[in-house]
Amino acid sequence: MTNPLYDTLFGQHKGKNTVFLQMANGSTVTHDDFLQLASQYANLFTQLGVQPGDRVAVQIAKSPQALAIYAACVQAGIVFLPLNTAYTADEVSYFAENSGARLILCDDKRHNELEPIAKACGAILETMNADGSGSFTLQAETMPVGFQAVDRTEDDLAAFLYTSGTTGRSKGAMLTQGNLLSNCQALAKEWDFSAKDALLHALPIFHTHGLFVATNVTLLASGRLLFLPRFNLDEMIELMPQATTLMGVPTFYTRLLEDERFTRDLVRHMRLFVSGSAPLLAETHLQFEERTGHRILERYGMTETNMNTSNPYDGERRAGTVGFPLPGVEIKITDSNTGETLPQGEIGEIEVRGPNVFKGYWQMPEKTAEELRENGFFITGDLGQIDEDGYLHIVGRNKDLIISGGYNIYPKEIELLLDEEVGVLESAVIGVPHPDFGETVVGILVSDGKAELDLDAIKQSIGGPLARFKHPQKLVILPELPRNTMGKVQKKELREQYKDMFTPA
Ligand code: ATP
Ligand code: MG
Repeated sequence: MTNPLYDTLFGQHKGKNTVFLQMANGSTVTHDDFLQLASQYANLFTQLGVQPGDRVAVQIAKSPQALAIYAACVQAGIVFLPLNTAYTADEVSYFAENSGARLILCDDKRHNELEPIAKACGAILETMNADGSGSFTLQAETMPVGFQAVDRTEDDLAAFLYTSGTTGRSKGAMLTQGNLLSNCQALAKEWDFSAKDALLHALPIFHTHGLFVATNVTLLASGRLLFLPRFNLDEMIELMPQATTLMGVPTFYTRLLEDERFTRDLVRHMRLFVSGSAPLLAETHLQFEERTGHRILERYGMTETNMNTSNPYDGERRAGTVGFPLPGVEIKITDSNTGETLPQGEIGEIEVRGPNVFKGYWQMPEKTAEELRENGFFITGDLGQIDEDGYLHIVGRNKDLIISGGYNIYPKEIELLLDEEVGVLESAVIGVPHPDFGETVVGILVSDGKAELDLDAIKQSIGGPLARFKHPQKLVILPELPRNTMGKVQKKELREQYKDMFTPA
């Protein structure tokens, strides 16, 4: 009897009283306590009639309990479907219905809202307290401890993870045991993880970064998680002395750099800082090195593939790049129209193949066929370029590409120039419908609050190095850019907001 993902990540810790989770208040959960709780949940799900292969949608605040539910699903061969805790009832309704969830687990306070939804899609609804201290309407604590892991192969589904919905409606990516296993094995090796590691974990666990990267890698290596419910500067700084590694999104790093308690001395003992999920500005990268003496390691991945590339652990971590393909992963840059591989140095669509690539989008056969080629390559929707040393540069998303008067314009090229202007904290460049050009360039700026932005001067200054067709027709100032919980800029929202700028409705 085998269940490769369970055996490798969880089963190996059976009977160990070493610490797995350490909370901000100092309380701890050992590996064995964690596994016992997971086995009680597995018994509970089985008693509720949830079968191997069924989906369990989980919208529960980050807590040891929520993580134990993930372990229980793996153990019972159930497909784990974590949901962003910020999703509204309407959104949960879409995911529950789309996935055909057999069971929905939510915080107590959402019970009344979700009851009709569960009914409508024929799912069972169970609840627990938001702080994780409570228990299900059916008490897990009363369940027997111990559960025989259900037989699985690497090809069986382990999780449905919905994409962040940055470019359109979220899609349910079907991930197998083999996808998750191969990826955390590659990462643990690349990043030299061991039982000595204590990972400062402030990411959500409903997304690939916090769950399948940070958590799986630590479990595999028998390390410990310093488990924060969310990013909190005071707690981060307090726990830093006990950590060996931090995985974060770029905003973690900019926030830390804004705090004067974040000093070289505080992090002298640390061995690794990882960034991903959104582009890390070269400036943040350099500032971080100046302040701490550490170079952030930037990597690139997505819901559908887990991680694809990483800057080297030993070797040059090149700012503004996401490094090299992980072992077993192939990357190629292709022409978006013909699918042909482009010569080194040219910008094109990033395609990925390897054991990390998902099985397809749940109940979206056309979308799956569009993005997953028969030869196994996944068309990521990201545009990139490989430099002469083999480092991958992300140029932007295909959907953000602006085509103005027939010319291709990559927003990032303009954003980099805008970001360098005095007084500009950050920027986003979008394409807006235009009667003459089809689309034209609009730049959205956020001020650093130190001086008033002179838009004409900025326009002139960035105009020098840019061909005329790339010049922003208009610059606007916003107090901040719309972002989701993973720190991704929501250009979809910006395009919607400014869509009538040149073509009044
Ligand atoms: P959707 O697919 O629903 O539009 P999404 O692509 O934002 O949403 P995720 O799977 O969470 O959903 O995000 C993956 C994307 O994040 C990648 O395709 C890429 O655009 C971006 N990304 C991840 N890491 C990096 C990085 N280091 N630099 C730049 N972009 C990154
Ligand atoms: Mg995507």
